[in-house]
Amino acid sequence: MIKTLKALIFLSVLSLITGLFSCHDMKKKADLIIYNAKIYTPDSVAAGVNCIAVKNGKILQLGSDAEIRSRYWAPENINASGTFVYPGFTDAHSHFTGFALGLRYADLSVATSFNDVLEILKVYRKQHPNGWIVGRGWDQNKWDEKIFPDNRQLNTLFPGVPVVLSRVDGHAVLASEAAIKAAGLVFPGKSNEAVLHNGEFTGIFLEGMTDKLRNAIPLPSVNEITDLMTEATRLCHEAGLTAVTDAGLNKSEILLLDSLQKAGKISLRIDAWMNPNEENYAYFMKDTVYHTPFLRVGAIKIYADGALGSRGACLLSPYADDAPNQGILVTSSAELSAICLQAYKKGFQINTHAIGDSAIRMVLHAYSNFLKPEDDRRWRIEHAQVVNENDFKLFAQYHIIPSVQATHATSDMEWAGNRLGPDRVKNAYAYNRLLQQNGWLPNGTDFPIESIEPLKTFYAAVARKNPSGNPPDGYMKENALSRSDALKSITCWAAKASFTENERGSIEVGKDADFTILNTNIMVTPEDKLLKTKILYTIVNGKTVYKAKK
Ligand SMILES: [Zn+2]
Repeated sequence: MIKTLKALIFLSVLSLITGLFSCHDMKKKADLIIYNAKIYTPDSVAAGVNCIAVKNGKILQLGSDAEIRSRYWAPENINASGTFVYPGFTDAHSHFTGFALGLRYADLSVATSFNDVLEILKVYRKQHPNGWIVGRGWDQNKWDEKIFPDNRQLNTLFPGVPVVLSRVDGHAVLASEAAIKAAGLVFPGKSNEAVLHNGEFTGIFLEGMTDKLRNAIPLPSVNEITDLMTEATRLCHEAGLTAVTDAGLNKSEILLLDSLQKAGKISLRIDAWMNPNEENYAYFMKDTVYHTPFLRVGAIKIYADGALGSRGACLLSPYADDAPNQGILVTSSAELSAICLQAYKKGFQINTHAIGDSAIRMVLHAYSNFLKPEDDRRWRIEHAQVVNENDFKLFAQYHIIPSVQATHATSDMEWAGNRLGPDRVKNAYAYNRLLQQNGWLPNGTDFPIESIEPLKTFYAAVARKNPSGNPPDGYMKENALSRSDALKSITCWAAKASFTENERGSIEVGKDADFTILNTNIMVTPEDKLLKTKILYTIVNGKTVYKAKK
């Protein structure tokens, strides 16, 4: 009897001990487990891998559900229910701060005429009765009358009120007389940075003059800026973005991003590019690149020319619809080379906006004077839109990165042929051909010029259609990217273009736990269903920053 009692006590103690150990104590603690998932490394669906354990913001282990869940437990678990986990989507060329600050401006992108613009501004004025009227996103190419507007009606409707309206590409600005006065500008006379109509100044400034106007707009308060940045972050996560670019900032703007990230207000990874100025060089171009887990400041952004829409892109021969205009080179070869020299010595990246074939040729030649075949500098040409036939090979020869925006092709297709003529347009938006030169390329949106959604980038890259599905056969379809290449261009290649491929861009043990979870497999979903894809979760640093409502 005593023996039986002892045996019973022994057994119950044993079962208590094993019971304790069989739950959590036998397993290691992770922070997050995503299970029952189809996991997409950029190359393929990883066979046998449908579970991810995350710890301290990094991918701790990958394996089958059984493997991972027998080894780890976590306070947070996500049942992906057979849906698709991709490496977090990255926008390789965007203007995050501009997007955030622009959230307080009147949205003119929906206007289909200049009258529409005026109607939007009247409503905006009612909601914002004081101060300047600032709007962005107008595009005369979307209007019935496809010509630049002038400021006469602005002066009458809003007398004495500074009104500043940026064109969709930011390379042209319409300003009221009061805004021109408040910015301390005078009519520039005959200039290639001002638009005249029948000899009269229209109130439209181009290129460098647009910055002078924008710089005169009173800044919002620190609290307002913080709210705008937080809202912009939320919108990016909602679109599935985990990392973005801020292409061209001053020191104070970069330090603001850094402080808001450190305060947890911005949960996006940001590749911040310096504007080319002495203040930035003195502060950021030290012996090493400034690099936190969320911020990298290792590149200088330069503008070589303007944009095609406003005929500021610098072409080798005149615009087909505006001869003898050939556009504007805003940085000379000598100026660019001087910056390249500094960057080359200090190990910094140069990312130059170049759209026209003349600007692109100038940049390719300037870069190639510094780059050696064995270098891995990853100097980039942003947009690389119109490339002369003889210049494609220079991208390959000097490992110069063509940084493209797939939605530009489908947004510009209506009028790009008019600007360039039938022959030159064949070498425009030639993304697949550029990819073949360099072997890889990053893809972005240039938001707020385009929508922030990376799925639209993916769709435009593979289908070469606008969101309405036009043209039915795709625009110059030979330059579409394969789905696999399109995915890489917004994940691992985008990371590589920012020198962060060892930290993120693919789902591998040790890398950042940044994921975008979708309800469809975008690698096989029929093309016309791609834009119906839903973002289910956006996860940054192992934390859920967006979750779709059921
Ligand atoms: Zn840009």
